[in-house]
Amino acid sequence: MADLQSLDLIKSRSIAPPIVKDDGPVVIFIGGIHGNEPAGIVALKQLLQELQEQRAFIAGSVYGLIGNKTALKTGQRYCEVDLNRIWSKGEIAALSQQDALNSEQKEQLELWYALQNIVDQHKGPFYFMDLHTTSGPTAPFLTVNDSLLNRRFTQHYPLPVVLGIEEYLQGPLLSYINELGYVAFGFEAGQHDDPLSIQNCYDFARLSLEIIGLIADGSEQEQRLRLGRQCSDLEQFYEIIHRHQVQRREAFKLNPGYRNFQQVPSGTLLGYDGDQAMVLDQKGQLFMPLYQGQGEDGYFLIRSVPAFFLGLSKILRKLRVDKVFPLLPGVHWMTEDKSKLRIDLKIARFFTTEVLHLFGYRKKERSAEELIVTNREAASKHEAYKKATWY
Ligand SMILES: [Zn+2]
Repeated sequence: MADLQSLDLIKSRSIAPPIVKDDGPVVIFIGGIHGNEPAGIVALKQLLQELQEQRAFIAGSVYGLIGNKTALKTGQRYCEVDLNRIWSKGEIAALSQQDALNSEQKEQLELWYALQNIVDQHKGPFYFMDLHTTSGPTAPFLTVNDSLLNRRFTQHYPLPVVLGIEEYLQGPLLSYINELGYVAFGFEAGQHDDPLSIQNCYDFARLSLEIIGLIADGSEQEQRLRLGRQCSDLEQFYEIIHRHQVQRREAFKLNPGYRNFQQVPSGTLLGYDGDQAMVLDQKGQLFMPLYQGQGEDGYFLIRSVPAFFLGLSKILRKLRVDKVFPLLPGVHWMTEDKSKLRIDLKIARFFTTEVLHLFGYRKKERSAEELIVTNREAASKHEAYKKATWY
């Protein structure tokens, strides 16, 4: 393993030499955190090489880091555990105390130190973007933790934004970085082996630099048009309403032909998970249907979020109306910084998921009697981004 404190570590995990400036915004792209998704790496390599030639005109720093090096070599999603499901404070702290790390823990430790080294070297503001592809066909889209800061930034893309992934997935890298207060989200470019996915990663990355203000060479319209025309029949904001956890990996089979964002009526037989028939008990839009051998997310259901609710939740969150919740019977703060609530569901029955989302809370744990939720807004470093032109 490389020396974890040295700048060589950034170099050894870089897709191509970074653009490093003393001042200005810092953009960190990650490609190939899933080893069967190399499109981001191909695109970032090309982009970084081009940027080197335009170095003098770039108003900040750009890094492209490699995700799962070992899994990329063999083209599998992961070797032992999913590198994009192990990012939590506890798991990261445990890394330095363990003697025998598995393949992904070694990758995680190096990646984490590389990210920290980059943050230590710059003043910021920082932007983290994780490039992915999917097993089924799809228009490009963004997966975003639902904070006002993330919403504010991602609304500048001509792409659908799917909010709330953090409530359904344990331990994605970008959710972890997001909880540290930075703008951080994922981009899904298209199907794994579709050449268009590489073009989409390139357009997304370049457009991101233009939105942030790092480059201004007038190519923005071209990228906007190319990305936007693939999503012209989609809404701008969606939220996740259901996730199917794969029960029997070897016997999980979705019926062929489902497309991402496809409308599916209640009662649809989607396929089989072992001998369990997967029949929808509500209508929705199918999201990230799983058509590959590895992965635990069978499919998600999403629905579009009307602009009215986005506006309402923005107001409620800004006013911090949630501060009065503990005056209600059955609701208590769990932390001094008032970012975590315990809700007794026998007393405070009106706290449905929808209500909590409006006020900016995400579900952490739930039992029959109790719900523990955390505030999605508490950590956001708004001050660091206020001077940006997109803010
Ligand atoms: Zn992925």
